[in-house]
Amino acid sequence: MPGFVEIPAAQELPGWRHVYTGKVRDLYEPAEPHPQGDVMLVVASDRISAYDWVLPTEIPGKGGVLTALTLWWFDQLKDIVPDHTVEAVIPDAVQGRAMVVKRLAMFPVECVARGYLTGSGLAEYTTSGEVCGVPLPGGLVDGSRLPEPIFTPATKAEVGEHDENVSIDAVAAQIGREDAEALRDLTLAVYSRAHEIARSKGIILADTKFEFGRDAAGAITLADEVLTPDSSRFWPADEWEPGHAQASFDKQFVRDWLTSPASGWDKNGDTPPPALPPEVVERTRQRYVEAYDRLVG
Ligand code: ATP
Ligand code: MG
Repeated sequence: MPGFVEIPAAQELPGWRHVYTGKVRDLYEPAEPHPQGDVMLVVASDRISAYDWVLPTEIPGKGGVLTALTLWWFDQLKDIVPDHTVEAVIPDAVQGRAMVVKRLAMFPVECVARGYLTGSGLAEYTTSGEVCGVPLPGGLVDGSRLPEPIFTPATKAEVGEHDENVSIDAVAAQIGREDAEALRDLTLAVYSRAHEIARSKGIILADTKFEFGRDAAGAITLADEVLTPDSSRFWPADEWEPGHAQASFDKQFVRDWLTSPASGWDKNGDTPPPALPPEVVERTRQRYVEAYDRLVG
């Protein structure tokens, strides 16, 4: 079963108590009552995950790039949906790769929007002609643009399990019809705005995942990280060509290397993945920086 490869013990941060270690991020709560109320500190590490494993090698600077990108996107989206960030002092040791956020009651749903067909969406379409209960026209191939963006939610899996694609009806059965439809509408509105912005910078936002929660006042709020290479598929627009897998600004080098004979690793087995070679680390680091530079720069 996939899982964790020795995640380093969370760093001690003055004024904060470590409460949770995710695959990529470390969560802290205030050690004393905080001026901003019920908040958490989300620290993005340089860890990278692939095939549901946390890899034993870090990508230097990745946590900083993903934090900066997320904060930039929140700014582009704030007229559509409020986000979880609050103004507060960040400990020096994690400056640039951490945010203080409102602690939300999270919806147990991965809110995925897809404007293009690939990955698990393509796999479902190939067997059933639909994705998460949304029927699609015939003749679509890997990388095809969809007639319009679709909401393809997934249940949030426990550590070591895969997320499972579900229909909006399944989400409605879990959290209620009204909230399910609100999440769908927000997911599609944010995707459309982000797609338009990315496209103007030469990047296709093929699909992306959001997480939402409710704040203390009851407002549905955009949480987690958003529109980063870890939560999205970014494709260089000038190389887009439906019919095969697309070049992308994410963990492509890592996945390619892990599944090549050079790594000696079996992605379907129980053995943790090996350390990444320096050139894979460097090319991956450059991809993250390039995605940031093209979008924000
Ligand atoms: P993966 O994202 O691959 O599933 P993970 O979810 O275990 O891994 P991370 O993404 O590294 O872990 O950690 C972030 C965690 O914090 C997630 O569980 C996410 O749902 C949660 N989270 C994010 N924003 C908030 C928020 N404002 N309030 C409460 N929980 C939040
Ligand atoms: Mg997560």
